[in-house]
Amino acid sequence: MKRRTKIVCTLGPAVDSKEKIAALIEAGMNVARLNCSHGTWETREKWIQWIRELNTDISPVAILVDLQGPKFRVGDIAGGQIELTVGQTVTVGRGPEIEIPILQDEILKVMAAHGRLLLGDGEIELRILSGADGEFKAKVVTGGILRSKKGVTLVGKVFDVPALTVKDIEDVQEAVKHAPDFIALSYVKHAADIRELRRTIDRLDKSIQICAKIETREAIKDLDNILKVVDIVMVARGDMGLQMDIEDVPLMQKRIISQCTNAGKPVITATQMLESMIANPRPTRAEATDIANAVLDGTDALMLSAETASGAYPIECVKTMVRIAEKAEGHFDSSGVEKAFHERLKHGVSHTDAIAHAVSDLASLIKPHAILTITTSGQTSRLVSKFRPKAPILCGTSSRRTLGQMAIVWGVEAIHIPVASTTEDTIHNAIDEFFRHRRVKHKDMLIITAGVPSGVPGNTNLIQTEIVK
Ligand code: PEP
Repeated sequence: MKRRTKIVCTLGPAVDSKEKIAALIEAGMNVARLNCSHGTWETREKWIQWIRELNTDISPVAILVDLQGPKFRVGDIAGGQIELTVGQTVTVGRGPEIEIPILQDEILKVMAAHGRLLLGDGEIELRILSGADGEFKAKVVTGGILRSKKGVTLVGKVFDVPALTVKDIEDVQEAVKHAPDFIALSYVKHAADIRELRRTIDRLDKSIQICAKIETREAIKDLDNILKVVDIVMVARGDMGLQMDIEDVPLMQKRIISQCTNAGKPVITATQMLESMIANPRPTRAEATDIANAVLDGTDALMLSAETASGAYPIECVKTMVRIAEKAEGHFDSSGVEKAFHERLKHGVSHTDAIAHAVSDLASLIKPHAILTITTSGQTSRLVSKFRPKAPILCGTSSRRTLGQMAIVWGVEAIHIPVASTTEDTIHNAIDEFFRHRRVKHKDMLIITAGVPSGVPGNTNLIQTEIVK
């Protein structure tokens, strides 16, 4: 694999066949996102089955189930969509003949005259003129085409909503039946929200990792605590753009990515990365620059939403993203990561973090063919990856779970290896597997890092070099 940045593709009607999903994988998809805001479990089950049938035993495509969370969306619009023109008056809320249905009590309760309603990704704005008891009249301030199930929020209002809705809990129960690699929580406000989801998942399957979608001001304030309890993070720029001034979004992206890097947590940059390619075969210059900048900020993964779920060019989007990411990642400046590591040293770093730094340092000196990480929990590979070494990062693991979860980690190619009784045998099992898959060849020099005794998580204590024989 030449590309190091991972790609998350949202599945939807545009790729609803085994052939199209195979084409997404061929183009570069690493993680398939199943968005619980749309569609049914019947369709999701079918997609999961296709992916598992198509997966190979090296770097398999992982499954991320994205919970809708306490997010408000418009209901089903008659005809599926409505064209809104500036100055037009429309009816909003709950009731017969309503043009834009909004059904949730929490938002209707705080809706009142003069309120600003943002719809979709914020591109459409309505001003509430009058109304009560769930039925309102609104004037279109910024127009556009509004489709069913698009997001809606009232600017400046705080909604009294739980972290996990009844629908989320039902979706978690369905999701765990299919053993996804990750479950993402929308609208996280505090670390306590992640703990609540953790408790719900742990009762069913402890090994599923949790992704915190960071989109609210509250979550940004509590990010250090969130990072202590979460496994991966998503910079959810769509809703973030509704929750704060648009000019704050790029700065928040940089801040979140940097905090994730320092905490050794993989991070996904999401939303509108190739928005114009929903309808056009080529991206804009600004989109190409946005992708490159996210890579240079240090993102592990890039996400496509409507571009692959419902756009006209899903496969071309992945190919375009691959080309732009590949070009940018060669120019990553790791001095920021290095500086942050030395800052962390003042407070004491973990054993694994120190070993990962030493491995990456050694790799820059002796330029091995690859770094081979042997890991149970995946932590060694994740931390080595954070230093962005130029050498490929190979991961041998006897945990099927870790194998899947490496799909989101920058630069890591993972393979399943049989459990062995000694570290030496485990290392040789991994070399044999990568040799079989032509990722290493005779006489290649490897830097190997592992834990002795093998199979104990968080115990990385070995660095050695080896020539493939
Ligand atoms: C986002 O808000 O950027 C996001 C990814 O979440 P969703 O697609 O659920 O709105």
